[in-house]
Amino acid sequence: MEKINILMVAAEAAPYVKVGGLGDVVGSLPPALRKLGLDVRLILPLYDAIDRKKFALRKIFSNLAIAYAAQTYRVNLYATFFPAGRTPVYFLDAPEFFSGPEIYPRQGQSDRFLFFSAAVLSVLPSINFSPDIIHCHDAQTGLVPVLMKTIGAGRFEGVKTVFTIHNFTYQKKTSPAVLKKINLDIQTCHSLALDARDGDINFMVQGILNADQVTTVSPTYAREITTSFYGAGLEKIIRRRRADLTGIINGLDLDFFNPARDPFLVRRYSARCLSAKKENKLAVQKAFGLPVDEKIALSALVSRLVWQKGIDLLDEKCARLPGQLIILGRGEQDQEKRLKALTRRFPKQISVQIKYDEKLAHLVYAGADIFLMPSRFEPCGLGQMIAMRYGAVPVVRATGGLKDTVSRQTGFVFQDMTQPAFFGAWQKALDIFYQQPRQWRRRQSAGFRKDFSWTKPARSYAFLYRHLLDRRTKKN
Ligand code: ADP
Repeated sequence: MEKINILMVAAEAAPYVKVGGLGDVVGSLPPALRKLGLDVRLILPLYDAIDRKKFALRKIFSNLAIAYAAQTYRVNLYATFFPAGRTPVYFLDAPEFFSGPEIYPRQGQSDRFLFFSAAVLSVLPSINFSPDIIHCHDAQTGLVPVLMKTIGAGRFEGVKTVFTIHNFTYQKKTSPAVLKKINLDIQTCHSLALDARDGDINFMVQGILNADQVTTVSPTYAREITTSFYGAGLEKIIRRRRADLTGIINGLDLDFFNPARDPFLVRRYSARCLSAKKENKLAVQKAFGLPVDEKIALSALVSRLVWQKGIDLLDEKCARLPGQLIILGRGEQDQEKRLKALTRRFPKQISVQIKYDEKLAHLVYAGADIFLMPSRFEPCGLGQMIAMRYGAVPVVRATGGLKDTVSRQTGFVFQDMTQPAFFGAWQKALDIFYQQPRQWRRRQSAGFRKDFSWTKPARSYAFLYRHLLDRRTKKN
């Protein structure tokens, strides 16, 4: 079979740098595709947060010149391999754009990712790798396809593009004038001129309009974003590409999220000895300062604390439920404050830790009985899948990937974004936990048995790439 070369371009990838699910996905899809025989490589910005020593980054090129904003910047290119397998990862080193503690700072993101997108195309010839397809992830890299057609014209003939929407709400907008920094006259490009009519250039819109194929991370979300409720104002744009839009559910890195081998757990366990979960539960109760008692139902939420996630549904009514609630996350300040106040009022029942902590997150998945995801929308969601893999039963709203991955056999699903609907499903879960332990076990086991590996999704992406390249061959 003909070898396919894929270059992935993204703003984050685990284990190097991860803010949310995007990092998980970009961190595990390339090695999964490589297992299928595709030559996949990934390029990321080299942020300060990336540990060069730990990941054995080697400098492979120095002082590559990038013209930007009437100056010439000198960038370096580093490389390493993903820990599992031999998938190359490149890091673009440009401290003027990528330094600082935040991956997504409040200021300067347009510059950061416009520069990154343009620089990726400039440094590509140095790598000695000719991609058949450039696969861009989310708005940060949404300009890549249009840059290939404009400032890169002639250099990328026949190279196809895929744009994956991981979260439609983070769109990234910039003033059209900013594109002058890469000597791009927007009037020379129809999609840019059209986009600029409302006063700004939207990176997400550009990705959607210019990529040869658009994908998102679940079939339900692919349908939802064509509606005004979920379309975040872009539903008309996305409908134009309906024929080229597919939803492919994400997989999980089953080595990293594996309760039988997880180094972050107090006690490891498998589906056959779920009772060993309890030691993790006691450790989590202790870590969150709650009464340590294996008989009390422990509900958990691990999440970015943002509007999307429906955190606002959690209020003092939680304390009326028979059980404990722990929350690990960080995000919007008002949500953080509100949750901390709740902990102070109900210290024996509710405990919040405001931070990002991968280790603790694993322990929480392992210790929790119930995992909550009352999301307003959820493109795919990984939390519910991780929870099921760790024997925590999810309570989720029927939206996006939550609808596609959680069923009545494996969890509790509610429809309306209201407190009664959410608390109704949660209460039902608690009832079954306390009163019908055998039924509870059946749900846990059904979750455990579900296949969350990358095998199927990676095959779907490989199929899509082949299809795109077949179309290219037929056209020629
Ligand atoms: P999103 O991509 O919208 O943030 P997902 O459910 O797709 O949501 O993925 C979230 C990922 O980030 C999961 O791996 C989850 O465990 C992890 N995560 C979220 N918040 C935290 C946190 N505070 N500490 C550690 N891991 C977290």
